[in-house]
Amino acid sequence: MIYLDYAATTPLDRRIFDAMLPYFSDSFGNPSSVHRLGQRAEAAVENARETIAACLNCQPEEIIFTSGGSEADNLALRGVGEAVRAQTGRQWILTSRAEHPAVSKTAMQMHSLQGFLLEWLDVDEHGLLRPETLDAAACGQTILASVMLSNNEIGTINPIRELAAVAKQHGILMHTDAVQAAAYLPVNVQELGVDLLSLGAHKFYGPKGVGALYIRKGTPIHSQLTGGGQEHNLRAGTSNVPYIIGLAEALRLAGEEREARTNHVLPLRDHIIGRVLEGILDSQLTGHPTLRMPNHASFVFKDVDGNLLLQLLDAAGFACSSGSACKTGNPEPSEVIRALGLPLAWALGSLRVTLGKETTTAEVEQFISLLPGLVEKARALSNRG
Ligand SMILES: *Cc1c(COP(=O)(O)O)cnc(C)c1O
Repeated sequence: MIYLDYAATTPLDRRIFDAMLPYFSDSFGNPSSVHRLGQRAEAAVENARETIAACLNCQPEEIIFTSGGSEADNLALRGVGEAVRAQTGRQWILTSRAEHPAVSKTAMQMHSLQGFLLEWLDVDEHGLLRPETLDAAACGQTILASVMLSNNEIGTINPIRELAAVAKQHGILMHTDAVQAAAYLPVNVQELGVDLLSLGAHKFYGPKGVGALYIRKGTPIHSQLTGGGQEHNLRAGTSNVPYIIGLAEALRLAGEEREARTNHVLPLRDHIIGRVLEGILDSQLTGHPTLRMPNHASFVFKDVDGNLLLQLLDAAGFACSSGSACKTGNPEPSEVIRALGLPLAWALGSLRVTLGKETTTAEVEQFISLLPGLVEKARALSNRG
């Protein structure tokens, strides 16, 4: 199987696994315990927090460990939404139409169950949220804006620095979901100017089930998981010590190897994009042509069932992904693909190809030699049905 789905998840890096291993058994203490075994575990967790703070250019106490990117997004939106509304009576949450469900579904539930007011910000044809769109929507009643740093489905990188500057002018808080971005982009929270930033380890060769939320000092936020006083009373539960070690090591390595990893995937990505657009009839790139993740190629093919294409690719030995969910035989484009404003005949035929540090030139060559035939086959079968 040739794996071209690194935006869905990445394999655990052996070096990270080795760093985690002692904390499953030898150093198994509870960081909240007073004895030495506990103290050793606590020191490891605090060390991990310092590593992450150094990568993000923030203070260690501004990092809260979570069970992953989804929980970090939930804590950011719900926690800040509730705290700011209680303090100020503000009601509005702004988010783009191209967010991950961890943000969009959370915002929808805050609206339906808690009465928060929601505004969906339009993105341009490349899925990019323009600063002037945020500027026009922000007002004195806005709590926060949540806009992802880079998009998992179409790879577009948003101008977060400019968006955060607009948010600041309006006196509103800015959250960014950097879960996908952290694999290749700097996540310096001072440069980005954000108040909150979400991370998830398994998108950059760390373990699944662990993440973090950066919360700028002084940001009002309510805990969403009550119990013990862990994580500065913001996230109860015994710390997942080995996974926290894994997250810190994964982020440290991502920073250290960012340039080498980017230099590896970028030419492969551009090769795929070039060959697909010139070699496949009725194909179109989705997402931004230049402001996109270096490992991310995504397309739509006219009159092709994207799910069928994925099955044909799977049978041919390639693991890729599509932006459409097949709901009981009635395929629908994802919200992100929908937000691009493509006609339905195009929107249903999406394909995402994402590369990683293990991807080889030979794998890419094999992929681009087989893809045109598979697209034609999927198109012929789609049209017959
Ligand atoms: C994967 C992903 C998430 C969810 O992270 P988990 O750690 O899987 O919960 C959120 N946002 C984006 C952009 C993602 O790519």
